[in-house]
Amino acid sequence: MEKTLSIIKPDGVKKNIIGEVVSRFEKQGLKVLAMRMISLTKKGACGFYAVHSERPFFNDLTDFMSSGPVVVMVLGGGDAVKKVRAIMGATNPAEAEPGTIRKDFADSIDNNIVHGSDAPETAASEIHYFFNCLDICEG
Ligand code: ADP
Ligand code: MG
Repeated sequence: MEKTLSIIKPDGVKKNIIGEVVSRFEKQGLKVLAMRMISLTKKGACGFYAVHSERPFFNDLTDFMSSGPVVVMVLGGGDAVKKVRAIMGATNPAEAEPGTIRKDFADSIDNNIVHGSDAPETAASEIHYFFNCLDICEG
């Protein structure tokens, strides 16, 4: 079973669609293995998105991610990384497929509701940014 990290971003929490997002993952056979609601500090958001630190959108992105509570979760299942990315849709909601979370709910590329790890290796480090092995219920 593969594991991946997903985050319901502050816009998803504000729009009151935590349940809707989790339900879309569950309906596609993914299991929630760990979940927590937290408020990221600016520093915490910068650490999480360090890979993007040289991008022009980094400051806005990390301001946004620290603007309100987020829900961080570990999802497990066959091909979990790719499956979550498919359910999320493209980064820019204008380019996302119909029926994806971003197409259905996101306002813009800056406010796109949800995060999902992009590869098994990044999933492992992203999961451990928020959770230790005792937090993850694989039973
Ligand atoms: P994804 O979240 O689909 O993996 P990236 O890892 O490329 O996308 O970027 C991380 C986040 O940074 C995106 O979800 C989006 O919120 C923001 N972002 C990416 N590209 C842009 C951009 N060109 N302009 C503004 N924000 C962006
Ligand atoms: Mg990414």
